[in-house]
Amino acid sequence: MAERLADTPSVRDAVLGAARAAREARRDAASGEAVAGDAGGGVGGVVGDAGEAPSSSAMTHSWVFTGAPGSGRSQAALAFAAALECTGEEPGCGRCRECRAVLEGAHTDVVRVVPQALSIGVDYVRETIIAGAHRLPTVSPWRVVIIEDADRLSASAADALLKTVEEPPSRTVIVFCAPSTDPQDFSTTLRSRCRHVYVPSPSVAEITRLLVEEEGATEHDARLAAQASMRHIGRARRLVTTPSMQQRRAAVLNLAELIRHGDQAFQAMYALVKAMEKEATEAFAEEDAAERERLERSLGAGGRGKGAQKAARGVAGMVKELEKAQRMRTTRRRRDLLDLALVDLAGLYRDALLLAVGATVEPVHPDFSGLAGELARGVGERGLVQCLDAIAVCRRHISENVQFSIATDGLVGRLRQAYGV
Ligand SMILES: [Zn+2]
Repeated sequence: MAERLADTPSVRDAVLGAARAAREARRDAASGEAVAGDAGGGVGGVVGDAGEAPSSSAMTHSWVFTGAPGSGRSQAALAFAAALECTGEEPGCGRCRECRAVLEGAHTDVVRVVPQALSIGVDYVRETIIAGAHRLPTVSPWRVVIIEDADRLSASAADALLKTVEEPPSRTVIVFCAPSTDPQDFSTTLRSRCRHVYVPSPSVAEITRLLVEEEGATEHDARLAAQASMRHIGRARRLVTTPSMQQRRAAVLNLAELIRHGDQAFQAMYALVKAMEKEATEAFAEEDAAERERLERSLGAGGRGKGAQKAARGVAGMVKELEKAQRMRTTRRRRDLLDLALVDLAGLYRDALLLAVGATVEPVHPDFSGLAGELARGVGERGLVQCLDAIAVCRRHISENVQFSIATDGLVGRLRQAYGV
């Protein structure tokens, strides 16, 4: 575990330090030493943000981990959970049964909440997060609830959580994860009641090393993936392991060339959007069906005898709810895929712009530097700035639920204007 976090000493120290303090506090409490009340389960001794002085007696049941998408934020949260549950000599040994179970996502006392909707509402918070936080741990000292994408909490959902975060059950630790470099993105009221750990993005060299070691990628491919993904570990990993991801990226970047050719650009964009929609649907097709079957079975669908009819009505309602949740998940996935493509394209225009103004900075897409050079000469500084604006507008449209085809047609039109064709 310490190894997993070795690249980010500040995170490692915070996480392992907290787990160590938690263990000591529990040991003190068990041996009857002067640890008052709830503080017996204190998680302390942690260096958070500047200004949050470490305090060994303060209770820290509520945490927020922030970091850019792909920085390994969720892994850090999971490592923290493992360190809390660890039964090894040093917290977070990574070898004991508890550590392994947590890291494999199979520990009964560690719950990972991964919201599928674009916005986390009050009902979801009450049913999933608050209910989960108030259950006692069964086999371990701590019940750990990790909430992914906590930046999606609606204001009212954050309010509903306030009490739980302020006075958490004495054996519960809540960890919010927000994919952001700016903690401001995460509810202010909640943030002020949590300890903050910032998880920095790993460097290109670190990601390269990881992909060579763990995925058997060549040094060249690993480095390219690290750069092209803008230091997003998960994406970089998929780029070296999934050929369809590489093809998608190439198709997206080649759009910048096609923009000159009118109809071809619109058609290529249309094909890309279609492919992403198909992928988003297929990605969950199996999972959707399995979930539905599980639900129906657990509710005893198809049963006979008294009450079966009444049960059937209840089942229909719950199936409907499930289908709604599944549709939201597909929508989110579709949107994420398109957004990722737009970020790729923006990276190429940025490379071109930097060439146009003569700046020497590492390119995002070194394998497309030829095309970036052509764009720098052909579209020019002003045009390239307009291209980046056009992408920003399209991303905003997508986030505002504008129909994909309309948003992307608009993008192609604006890019053509910027090219002066
Ligand atoms: Zn362990």
